[in-house]
Amino acid sequence: MPSSAQTRTAQTKNGFTPKTCPVCGRPFEWRKKWAANWPNVVYCSEKCRRA
Ligand SMILES: [Zn+2]
Repeated sequence: MPSSAQTRTAQTKNGFTPKTCPVCGRPFEWRKKWAANWPNVVYCSEKCRRA
């Protein structure tokens, strides 16, 4: 059993894994406004969503 193995899991914030916006290519983190909808969030912003 590996002892201090830091698995390469993405850094999480509040237990949510950051995502990468397919439009601008930037990583974005969980936001409170997406709390109820995070699994469905794809774009970092409304701007990218409409792009
Ligand atoms: Zn974006």
